[in-house]
Amino acid sequence: MATILIHGGRIIDPASGTDATGDILIREDRVEQLSLDEPLPRDADTLVNAEGCIVTPGLVDPHVHLREPSIGQAHRETIAIGAAAAAAGGFTTVCSMPNTNPPPDTPDRVRDLVHRGNQTRGSRVFPVACGTIGRSGEVPTDVAGLIEAGAMGISDDGDGVADDEVMATILKRVAEADTCFMQHCQDPAMTVGAAMNAGALALRLGLGEWPPAAETSMIERDVRLNAGPGARYHAQHLSCASSVDAIRAARAAGQPVTAEASPHHLLLTEAACDGYNTVAKVNPPLRTEADIEAIKIGIAEGVITMLATDQAPHPPQAKATDFASAAFGMVSIECALPLYKRALIDGGVIDWPRMIAMMTTEPAALTGLHRLGIGRLEAGGLADVTLIDPTLEWTIDASAFLSTGRNCPFEGWTVSGRAIGTIVAGTPRWMLPGDRLEAPVACQPSRH
Ligand SMILES: [Zn+2]
Repeated sequence: MATILIHGGRIIDPASGTDATGDILIREDRVEQLSLDEPLPRDADTLVNAEGCIVTPGLVDPHVHLREPSIGQAHRETIAIGAAAAAAGGFTTVCSMPNTNPPPDTPDRVRDLVHRGNQTRGSRVFPVACGTIGRSGEVPTDVAGLIEAGAMGISDDGDGVADDEVMATILKRVAEADTCFMQHCQDPAMTVGAAMNAGALALRLGLGEWPPAAETSMIERDVRLNAGPGARYHAQHLSCASSVDAIRAARAAGQPVTAEASPHHLLLTEAACDGYNTVAKVNPPLRTEADIEAIKIGIAEGVITMLATDQAPHPPQAKATDFASAAFGMVSIECALPLYKRALIDGGVIDWPRMIAMMTTEPAALTGLHRLGIGRLEAGGLADVTLIDPTLEWTIDASAFLSTGRNCPFEGWTVSGRAIGTIVAGTPRWMLPGDRLEAPVACQPSRH
């Protein structure tokens, strides 16, 4: 039986409130022992020296795009590649969004995705299924059937559900199924032809303007509709100050409403779009310094409780065109951890334990993954573990990403902090080459 001893690390487990130096012994797919007092005997098949490192429950990204199936589309990304990229970023679990072709709008399609996800050798993959048939916003799906088939949430991500009556029905079904709805908050009527944040820069560049209200108005509408059902409602990728206010008000009113922040909305402004830089084109768009500040305040106050990359790989030709025609989306899952650290820890917004909670317990509770033991680290529990070197300096090089996506706006940034080991069910799925391993471990980064 394979054993791994991770010794001398700073163990942070937000679920139990642990933040102390200790050792973890993994046997097969379980954490056999977690010792904060006595060092464990150094007799495992694999020894990992975690001194100076942070050892956490496996990180969870509740919002990624894995581009499979992609019938008739140019995507080269697959579930296996996306899962390998996630593991290289320190994530042991990702939730895949339903804007694929075909989309997961039936239980059979969800079962197919669960099956495909189980074949990967990267992170765990759990599908989020459609709120409406074909993601067309018109006919609500069989939410209970989709959850029964293995979906961990419901969303039409890529599009918001605009119709009030349809949305009301979805929220009711989501509440009944005890799952969550993840809304891509975008009023389509307010964003026709929109390409970037509304304002002086968009006017100068002659690009379609995307007002913050297109996002915030949908959150406010949803909160009104959810007053009765009380579903777990989650606003994806918050981009602007007014949306933070809307979430704050909903939570103050007692609704089970949550929201997520993405690396790019914490670190980049609309200025990145200048010169028609298509890599900076994202949905919702990059905003202003004031919006970044508001999102950080929302995180510091506990209004925004999750971090999500919105990993969105595109083939080069989707970005190598004029700004108005270019695809929306960015990749950052392989460098998200130091980006979050830069924005939130180095920025003095929150500390490591809170940031880890935003990447473990919080998304696990939203999606119900905590019921599978995901998002916490305890003796007898699942051996999903992430090792983080919090001070390792490195330069982001998108050409080295396992993902096929090269559309990374953080290319060339020198950052500090990195996931150096990702263990899923007791198996190392990613290990940064280095001297931390004191006995050989059979693990190579792999796309397959
Ligand atoms: Zn979205």
